[in-house]
Amino acid sequence: ESMVSKEQILQWLQAVALVLEQNKDYLTQLDAAIGDADHGINMNRGFQKAIAQLPSVADQDIGNILKAVSMTLISTVGGASGPLYGTLFLRASTMVTGKQELSDEDMVTFLQATVDGVVQRGKAHVGDKTMLDTLAPAVDAFKDAIAEGASTPEALQKAVSAAEAGMKSTIPLVAKKGRASYLGERSSGHQDPGATSTYFILKALLDTVNT
Ligand code: ADP
Ligand code: MG
Ligand code: MG
Repeated sequence: ESMVSKEQILQWLQAVALVLEQNKDYLTQLDAAIGDADHGINMNRGFQKAIAQLPSVADQDIGNILKAVSMTLISTVGGASGPLYGTLFLRASTMVTGKQELSDEDMVTFLQATVDGVVQRGKAHVGDKTMLDTLAPAVDAFKDAIAEGASTPEALQKAVSAAEAGMKSTIPLVAKKGRASYLGERSSGHQDPGATSTYFILKALLDTVNT
């Protein structure tokens, strides 16, 4: 059985902040095409604030650390993605309350809660051209791999492959939720910014668990 430690969760959050900072302009360009050109700015602001606050909660359990991240994202990201990512981390945090490390089963529960949080908050379906198009297939792939006996690092590899395919699947889609849906058919032909930031977040988790 593989375990994800609290230290790895903290490293993951640092890695997310870094990759979002590095891709701030890219995410904003994607949002310029079908939204209001602020997704990279929103996500970078939120995660920079989240990691700035990590030292004050780093001695707490994984649940409380992720809850603190959630509260920071809700209060600093803004737009549609702030409440969505905030709820994602909030739902996930409640599933790992009191834990100092996460087993394969904990990871299944944790990742499923991220999907449940986004769906609860945003009411999107797969195919609506949102972050859910990356997240839902990734979590399904993770669960399938664990059920087949894979370790968390192995299952995360499958999850990130599915996440990448899900992210790219948004290119031809017509947006049904959020700002991009105002464009109707004209939203087709562009990769969804939220689906892209979700890919970076999952890829950072894989990279952290593999190091
Ligand atoms: P805003 O559109 O308010 O400027 P952002 O640009 O930060 O917010 O985030 C836009 C992203 O939010 C979209 O690319 C999409 O992935 C995601 N999104 C918008 N509405 C929903 C929803 N109802 N459910 C899931 N994701 C959504
Ligand atoms: Mg936007
Ligand atoms: Mg906006």
